Amino acid sequence: MNKTIEKIVSLCKQRGFVYQSSEIYGGFGAVYDYGPLGVELKNNIASYWWREMTQIHENIVGLDSGILMHPKIWEASGHVGEFHDPLVDCKQCKSRYRADELSDDIENEKWDKIKCPKCGTTGMMTSPRQFNLMFKTQVGPVEESGSTAYLRPETAQGIYVNYQLVQGSTRMKIPFGIAQIGKAFRNEIIARNFIFRTREFEQMEMQYFVKPENDNEAMREWKKKRVNFYTETLGINEKNIRFHEHVEGELAHYAKEAWDIEYNFPFGWSEIEGIHNRTDFDLARHEEYSGKNLKYFDQVANERYLPYIIETSAGLNRMMLAVLSDAYWEDTENNRTVMKLHPKIAPIKAVICPLVKKDGLPEKARAIVDVLRPHFNILFDQQGSIGKRYYRQDEAGTPYGITVDHQTMEDNTVTLRHRDTQKQDRIAIDDILNIIQSSLV
Ligand code: ATP
Repeated sequence: MNKTIEKIVSLCKQRGFVYQSSEIYGGFGAVYDYGPLGVELKNNIASYWWREMTQIHENIVGLDSGILMHPKIWEASGHVGEFHDPLVDCKQCKSRYRADELSDDIENEKWDKIKCPKCGTTGMMTSPRQFNLMFKTQVGPVEESGSTAYLRPETAQGIYVNYQLVQGSTRMKIPFGIAQIGKAFRNEIIARNFIFRTREFEQMEMQYFVKPENDNEAMREWKKKRVNFYTETLGINEKNIRFHEHVEGELAHYAKEAWDIEYNFPFGWSEIEGIHNRTDFDLARHEEYSGKNLKYFDQVANERYLPYIIETSAGLNRMMLAVLSDAYWEDTENNRTVMKLHPKIAPIKAVICPLVKKDGLPEKARAIVDVLRPHFNILFDQQGSIGKRYYRQDEAGTPYGITVDHQTMEDNTVTLRHRDTQKQDRIAIDDILNIIQSSLV
């Protein structure tokens, strides 16, 4: 099967998972909108992440901080000074490139001798210029110095600047964690690969505060837990998940150790989540810039220190693209495309179909809909042939098809069709809820 990103993009649009933003105006670069199925799938993934991070961990709590924050936060974090990419422009055709795309040695490259990959002109390339990835905005009615704010490029800083307040209100003892899901914005120069790299996206980050000497142990623990989330919770094939360690030169300025979890996308292995040992870099910088003491008082050891932070930082949209890519299956034998989503994250759990639109079958099907609807998302469909109805739902990733036929009217049984195998069982109406619910764990 030739699984390409183009095929996934097309299915996502047709079925209502993801649309290009502002399409009727010709689109808006690197921003996407999530349709009826997409928003359900994205919310399901996010709620499993939230559940695993907060509900089942006694020592991790949630936070929802603002997108706009004090601009000094971004000076302290290093984003104002360091968060940029070197860019070159072709003066002939105005194309813009990230310098590292055209040369492995940005510093020593003879940029005036480089040929533009788009228009083919040599000698028109500018030298690299630094381009900051943060979106700037103005706060207040007039543009004046001091009114500049930034759309946050990561959610993590909202956690660092609130960590003492959270600790104070919860009385949590180290080690403890704070989790957050929220939008982040980066003015990515080269945005590509659908929802993999966009200018507006959602992050799911958890910052784990530990005693400095326990950092390696916490790092090991979180690497294991996070990889299990992909294979066990989301049901992604473990052959498509791997770790990549950041070596010298790749490590961010704040990190002592960093690992990416990568997924084998149709366009190659790429990062979906980073697990970083950020040491006390962030808290030390916020102490320096805010002038506030951010040390934690450890009652057991009777000492004050800045905790080390182990961060797990995932992109929700990238995670969803990994889930979609993993689920995409062309069943050539049966001439259909199936999204083999795990039932627990599937946007719709079952489609209920009256075989024909008469003889009381639609009413009987509606009665089943009424029983199931309070428990999970389902769909009533009586349009077109039964085969077509099933195939539409195969593309939507709906795991079950329930058909009400003439026998139903006699003995209160229905057929239950399984999406991946197309196997059909005859079951009692009274058993439907239990059967579906037990597959959602
Ligand atoms: P990349 O190297 O791919 O730009 P990064 O190393 O800058 O990513 P982090 O700053 O570690 O990424 O952000 C953590 C996570 O946030 C990433 O693993 C990714 O899932 C997500 N993410 C970062 N930038 C984007 C983006 N532009 N669009 C969608 N998701 C993103």
